Amino acid sequence: MRPCPNDPLTAMTATTAPQRTNLLGLSREQMEAFFLSIGEKKFRAAQVMKWIHHEGCDDFEAMTNLSKALRARLAEVAEIRGPGVVYEGTSSDGTRKWVLEVEDGSYVETVLIPADNGSRRTLCVSSQVGCSLDCSFCSTGKQGFQRNLTAAEIIGQVWVASRSAGPQKDTAQRAVTNVVMMGMGEPLMNYDNVVPAMKLMLDDSAYGLSKRRVTLSTSGVVPMLDKLGDEVDVSLAISLHAATDELRSELVPINRKYNIRALLDACHRYLAKCDSARVVTIEYTLIKDVNDQQQHATELAELLHELPCKINLIPFNPFPHSGYEKPSRNQVMRFQQWLYELGYNAPIRTTRGDDIDAACGQLVGRVKDRTKRHARYIQSIQLDAD
Ligand code: SAH
Ligand code: SF4
Repeated sequence: MRPCPNDPLTAMTATTAPQRTNLLGLSREQMEAFFLSIGEKKFRAAQVMKWIHHEGCDDFEAMTNLSKALRARLAEVAEIRGPGVVYEGTSSDGTRKWVLEVEDGSYVETVLIPADNGSRRTLCVSSQVGCSLDCSFCSTGKQGFQRNLTAAEIIGQVWVASRSAGPQKDTAQRAVTNVVMMGMGEPLMNYDNVVPAMKLMLDDSAYGLSKRRVTLSTSGVVPMLDKLGDEVDVSLAISLHAATDELRSELVPINRKYNIRALLDACHRYLAKCDSARVVTIEYTLIKDVNDQQQHATELAELLHELPCKINLIPFNPFPHSGYEKPSRNQVMRFQQWLYELGYNAPIRTTRGDDIDAACGQLVGRVKDRTKRHARYIQSIQLDAD
């Protein structure tokens, strides 16, 4: 049986040859619409989602609670296609990294960071290949924007990391307990794909993570932040990095469009809408002699005094030709102490997985090339991991 050209989901993807719908990235509503479109009942959506996301299954034949006829029909009109794993490595501190090949041969990196006490395993997920926002201290920004990831490619990162531990059992045994959208890309610039992927992270028939365990980090795309609050309830992290518009516009160019006041007002509106976000996490990357002086700590504390928030300090992660330097350990501690005296207990986010080149915010993808660069890249990261 061929896919029906009148099926909305088939028609959406149809080009010359009929394409199969990739079920991996469909949210519950989209999956229900898909089953209705092939003349099946809505409840099939939850059944198939559990196979895909709980069991890590990518073969309809294995879905034994579906009739043989339905399995055969699904194999004709649909598929479960995750990203290809081209490299998997574990760092000496337990951080795991996957390099994944997505649709057009681009690479994305996904990092799983265990908490020291073993209570959490946080997956750092990418939303784009590259990024268009060009923050001056970010290596992803420096590589430019290649493309948005699809919802299947975004949730595919969680799928790959989760299935590496076998079928999901109870929460305590899960490979992934928390997700942060802090890998490559600006999630709010890829809203239409990020939202269904986040819905899957929260859905009990998929990853069932509580809304406090799913965090979206943004440099401040204000209109999309307002939209997000209307559609999905997740924790929010704001990449602030400076307390004056003059300095922030230099570091985070989108500040020229949506300034600090506009961003903080949007944070207040978000908090009013979502019960996950009782507080906003403020990310502050400390860069030597740029934003790491006492005056900067004072300005930051004054700016934030009305916003329910916690501050995370991230020492700048150097990369070639960035033009910036990492502050000394002592300077980072001094900055933390100044904030403490001003009423903020600001943890320092340590860089993890250094030996496999896996620091969050330092993920560098590679665009497709037809030369031997791919092979050399894989070789180089394998050497890094040795
Ligand atoms: N685009 C989103 C999420 C990805 S970046 C955002 O900007 O929030 C994740 C975090 O890493 C952000 O807080 C970002 O500012 C930070 N970051 C980027 N480059 C960094 C670097 N070289 N050193 C330290 N932190 C960096
Ligand atoms: Fe993009 Fe975030 Fe990097 Fe800025 S910090 S360039 S928004 S990924």
